[in-house]
Amino acid sequence: MYRDLLADATFHQLLLACDADLADAARAERCALCGGALHSACYPRKPRGRSCRLGPEHDRRFSFCCAVDGCRSRATPPSLRFLGRRVYLAAVVVLVAIMRHGVTASRMDRLSDVVGVDRRTVERWRAWWRGSFTATPFWQVARATFMPPIDHERLPASLLARFTGDDADRLVALLRFIGPVTGGCAHAR
Ligand SMILES: [Zn+2]
Repeated sequence: MYRDLLADATFHQLLLACDADLADAARAERCALCGGALHSACYPRKPRGRSCRLGPEHDRRFSFCCAVDGCRSRATPPSLRFLGRRVYLAAVVVLVAIMRHGVTASRMDRLSDVVGVDRRTVERWRAWWRGSFTATPFWQVARATFMPPIDHERLPASLLARFTGDDADRLVALLRFIGPVTGGCAHAR
């Protein structure tokens, strides 16, 4: 079951490894403004929604800062773990929104207990998937690659259903796919 993934250290290690690859790629690109070398300038994070013990390397978001004086632009690569500034893991924002569909109030309460998310937050996330996410320039382009079209009312479940493999494969594929909306303000100071 998807919920078990959040308690699976191997799953979190996989997400971290994916993020490390994305970070390596971003660093190899160098500074987008001046071509300068990028130095590591990770953000400390305290993500919620994990139910297993992990090392401190899981509490950092990869980010870089241009080494050139007078530029110092920041470059933050996409992430499979952190969705913008949200305090919850990206996987939680996906999974809770999926499990919300068709579940009874009591099951919803149990789920909220396990993940530690209150109902209002869950409703906010659902609204984000249907509203803000579908309005992103990324999705306006990406949606055209799906035929038949993705049902916006059933996001993110309708998107997850288009990926193949086991639960972990599909979730990782979805997190990788939405990477372009996770980066926040790349190159902003
Ligand atoms: Zn620069």
